[in-house]
Amino acid sequence: MEMNKHLVKAGNVVIGDGRIVVQTMCNTHTDDIEGTVAQTLRLSAAGAELVRITVPGLADVPHIAEIRRRVREAGCDVPLVADIHFSAETAIACAPVVEKVRINPGNFHKDHEKAREKFAEFLEVCKKYGTAVRIGLNHGSLGAFITEKYGNTPRAMAEAAMEWIRMAVEHDFYNVVVSLKASNTVVMVEAYRLLQRAMEEYGHVFPLHVGVTEAGNGDSGRIKSCVGIASVLSAGIGDTVRVSLTEDPEAELPVARYLSDMYSRNGKVFRSKTPPVVFQTNPPKNLPAPVDCGNISSRELRMLEAACEWGPKLLRREVDDITFPEDMDPAEAEYLRNEILQAARRRFYKPEYIACPGCGRTMYNLQAAFEEVKAKTAHLKDVVIAVMGCVVNGPGEMADADWGYVGEGNHKVSIYKGRTPLLRHIPEEEAADRLVALIESDRSARRSR
Ligand code: SF4
Repeated sequence: MEMNKHLVKAGNVVIGDGRIVVQTMCNTHTDDIEGTVAQTLRLSAAGAELVRITVPGLADVPHIAEIRRRVREAGCDVPLVADIHFSAETAIACAPVVEKVRINPGNFHKDHEKAREKFAEFLEVCKKYGTAVRIGLNHGSLGAFITEKYGNTPRAMAEAAMEWIRMAVEHDFYNVVVSLKASNTVVMVEAYRLLQRAMEEYGHVFPLHVGVTEAGNGDSGRIKSCVGIASVLSAGIGDTVRVSLTEDPEAELPVARYLSDMYSRNGKVFRSKTPPVVFQTNPPKNLPAPVDCGNISSRELRMLEAACEWGPKLLRREVDDITFPEDMDPAEAEYLRNEILQAARRRFYKPEYIACPGCGRTMYNLQAAFEEVKAKTAHLKDVVIAVMGCVVNGPGEMADADWGYVGEGNHKVSIYKGRTPLLRHIPEEEAADRLVALIESDRSARRSR
């Protein structure tokens, strides 16, 4: 069968030509126009080649339009990506305004046929304005239509993506990137592998946006991201990456640049050991001073190298354990070994945390809440705890978490056991303790059975 490999163009950025494009997302509120413009300019200056901004509803469409106008006025041509959940109307309204729109078409409508109609309508608008599309499906947010057939599995993710890919091709629309993110590295790597194979069999191969969603923060978030992303990129799959950390988005970029550097296939690379390169045709004027986004320290570099070297081998089951050079500090070697084995889901030495990066939908101090939950649950093992930034997507995106801490805003939190809310509207200052008490009483009830 003839194979069509499609290149995607979002503004001045080409995705799919072999270089791994680096992107990230603002965590400001979209109605905070000044704050979002400033963050976009900082992210672009720090090396983000695409910047995503959440658009929760139609009321925010004029806000992203104004953000784009001011970003261009500042001389920065970084393409903007509107991040849409659920509302087809908002996606359609954003398509003429930005360079790329990220959607999950399955969430456009509860009725699957109506979701298809809305997706077709959306594609026509994107075609008219030359807007690129990301079909972004996450492990936790697949619709019932697909999970009833395939379960909540990597196959379900790949099959769901193929339905929308086929529709795009039938509508003669090829400016499409696809992502299949999961927090579980085994699920995520398998989903990308299956999708790549399915696209090749179909004869239309679209660029893939690769990421481990809700990876958490600190060393664990970086290692988990590298284990998952490196496993996909080292197989020759993937064209653009986002490293999702529950930290300021600037902090993601050195890790994303490192991965781009390592796995770009056309010789054009970032230099992760030198100051960030700004990929712009017109250098921005009057930019705020770039923040120190933390160029990689030698310790961090060792950590990323080890995660990229061993993560793919562990996930492919080529090895069962990790060895480090004898001259390496034994405590550091043991720590890295534990972290990488856990990121590859081969051995769990501490609770598994899922935490979203936060975005314009987050209405509370997610980073502080995540640190508090980690500190208070560090003694627990064999549990998966999710800390999520919003009630709109958080509960759906927690995927296979045993427990969820979901911020509602207004200093209130809901606590979930699996997908079931056990406590709602708990004051923020009590929420972490109430979560720990619930987990401990659940464990002792199970032990006494
Ligand atoms: S779950 Fe987190 S990243 Fe996703 S929409 Fe909600 S706040 Fe934003």
